[in-house]
Amino acid sequence: MPAPTDVKYDRFEDQRSQCKMSRQQTESAAEPRTRVPFDDLVELLRAIFLKNGTSENVAAILAQNCASAEQDGAESHGVFRIPAYLSTLHSEWVDGKAVPQIRNTTSAWLSVDAMNGFAQPALAIAAGAAAEKARECGIAAIAISNSHHFGALWLDVEPLTRAGFVVLTMVSGYRRVAPHGGRHPIYGTNPMAFGAPRAKGPPLIFDQASSATSFGDLLIAKRENRTVPLGSGLDRTGQETSDPAAILDGGALLTFGGHKGSSIAMMIEVMAAAVTGSLFSFEVDRSQYPGAETSRSGQFMLLIDPRFGLGKACAERVDDLVVGLRSSGQTRLPGDRRYEARKKAQAQGVSIRCDALANLRTLLQ
Ligand code: NDP
Repeated sequence: MPAPTDVKYDRFEDQRSQCKMSRQQTESAAEPRTRVPFDDLVELLRAIFLKNGTSENVAAILAQNCASAEQDGAESHGVFRIPAYLSTLHSEWVDGKAVPQIRNTTSAWLSVDAMNGFAQPALAIAAGAAAEKARECGIAAIAISNSHHFGALWLDVEPLTRAGFVVLTMVSGYRRVAPHGGRHPIYGTNPMAFGAPRAKGPPLIFDQASSATSFGDLLIAKRENRTVPLGSGLDRTGQETSDPAAILDGGALLTFGGHKGSSIAMMIEVMAAAVTGSLFSFEVDRSQYPGAETSRSGQFMLLIDPRFGLGKACAERVDDLVVGLRSSGQTRLPGDRRYEARKKAQAQGVSIRCDALANLRTLLQ
């Protein structure tokens, strides 16, 4: 039984930029894009966070996180989010210099108070200790409270799956999603991500909001004057609509999969808010903080060391599963798109909209 390797949160080994293309290369006439070396993007974002009131540690973690999302093609949680990060920091709703504190610990449990800071620095101080606990007990939980998560959960899960763990994480948010049969928002978009190691490939990971459309994608659709699929949301009168502006103007998003997705959103409220000691999405009130766009909520993470299971190694069994899925005709597995985007970014630089890059540079002037 090989022991899981060390967890790396500072940088994924395979994310080092090997950019070879010109920064000014343009990919599309309709929406001009350029490519930037990954490390340059991290440095740019780090400087922006620092200039806008975060500590060195928080700036480094958020910059890495945001650039990684952009690199992996998760546009809704990449640099697109920077203006909202900054307006939230300026509103003082979040503490950009918070130092997270580990509270209750048992042999398989870690409670972390993010101290009203971002969730990723809280996870960073807990992940290594939780990995040790999971190696010892077979299982460990991290319960983060009083935190703001504004990124893609995929990035929280991947380092631990690469270290050999099966991982599940969930985040509650800000009321945007109506429960099944309801008309008004109660749930956050409540994402969850799950990952498992593979013996012969990158970890198998899915990362999804429990809303049919994520809030970030809704904002992008509005910006680009696109409709969203029916079933994405309701207008302020409770009627289904495909107009993102109507959903944003006093309406609500809907969960994926009708009542089934609604129950998953409900579970995430319990796990990420009630279990961690955080507010439910509908309880979060940022009305006194104009400009605030994050949620002061919670995150729950479960780590399983599959070496304690019986039979063939879990990572090999996951490979068997992947073979079965491919043989049934599934050509795209969750994660394939992100790995592909990352591979391309490592060879050519991170693809980013020219206007977004120009805006980022302006922020440092
Ligand atoms: P998507 O619906 O785009 O994708 C969900 C998952 O399904 C991904 O793992 C994706 O893989 C996979 N997938 C997509 N299409 C296919 C397909 N055709 N076949 C097989 N698998 C597929 O994600 P969401 O819009 O639900 O969420 C986007 C991001 O928003 C997530 O990263 C999430 O963490 C984040 N988010 C964060 C919040 C927060 O509070 N921090 C709140 C809500 C969302 P792949 O990635 O490879 O495309």
